Amino acid sequence: AAKTAGKRQWRRYHPDLQRGMAERAMLQEGLDNSSIETSFMVLYQPIVELTSGRIAGYEALVRWPHSTRGMVLPEQFITLAEESGQIVPLGAWVLDQAAGEAVRWRKTVGRRGPADRHAPYVSVNVSPRQFRDTEFYNVVRRALDLSDIRPSSLVLELTESLLMYNDDRILAEMSALTELGVRIAIDDFGTGYSSLSYLREFPISILKIDKSFIDELGRSPEQYALVEGITHLADTLGLTVIAEGVEDVRQQESLIAMGCRFGQGYLFAEPVSAEEAGQLVLAPPLGRLAGVPEAPVER
Ligand code: C2E
Ligand code: MG
Ligand code: MG
Ligand code: MG
Repeated sequence: AAKTAGKRQWRRYHPDLQRGMAERAMLQEGLDNSSIETSFMVLYQPIVELTSGRIAGYEALVRWPHSTRGMVLPEQFITLAEESGQIVPLGAWVLDQAAGEAVRWRKTVGRRGPADRHAPYVSVNVSPRQFRDTEFYNVVRRALDLSDIRPSSLVLELTESLLMYNDDRILAEMSALTELGVRIAIDDFGTGYSSLSYLREFPISILKIDKSFIDELGRSPEQYALVEGITHLADTLGLTVIAEGVEDVRQQESLIAMGCRFGQGYLFAEPVSAEEAGQLVLAPPLGRLAGVPEAPVER
């Protein structure tokens, strides 16, 4: 019976599997032939102070506008780019773009007042393969030098999976980067590593609570307690918390109530073009609680 079931399953999934492979081959070919600057683009999603709706920073999110397949999302090519090593030059390019935009934001804000206090930082995703590349530190230094971005205006988003390697070189690399003044965030926090001891061992400044936890927030007291617990833990350790994937006002209110300071999600804004991000810098606060008396944004 098991054999029959297996066969039936195979028959059911076979066409999809083939389509998946063809698609993969096509994407891979596109990646191989792409000249990065002309093929990819970077969007920016605001990271917002929850109580005021003010933009504290932006996350840089890469896109691949494809002639026949529309806007290809990172899920469909980041893994491939990691496997082929292409993530290394692609990631370096994203970093340069992001640093360049952050400098523009600072200049825009500077025309209106004390730029340093209000200019948004930029947060860039770094895949494990990219981080473990021996040149990564130099790539970051070069991006800082070329763009004239303040190191404190650059955040690198790493995943818990990187810390699983439990490698002294990773710790050394992270320390060298933070000595430059760059800050490190743990992305998708709560989905990966099972031990929390790394939060003490590594020089981390920011925890980004994964969207799956935020989705579940209103579903049960246990889910609420979980996010509240993470927030308090972060607070105790002196870490900043950002809630990912905030989509409705009730989530925003719950997060504020539990002391989570920052959020990111469609409630405030979807990822936007560099041009739109530049305009949002001077726009009124985002989100529906906007207008609530605001404390100065601290960065
Ligand atoms: P991530 O770093 O966790 O980024 C957040 C993802 O959630 C983004 O998807 C963003 O568009 C999406 N998102 C934000 N707010 C909401 C919301 O309210 N609702 C929903 N449903 N989604 C929301 P995106 O841009 O497709 O990126 C997916 C992942 O690809 C990122 O997850 C990140 O891990 C990776 N990625 C993106 N850009 C880069 C890059 O330049 N380099 C590397 N290595 N990875 C990248
Ligand atoms: Mg991220
Ligand atoms: Mg994330
Ligand atoms: Mg995520």
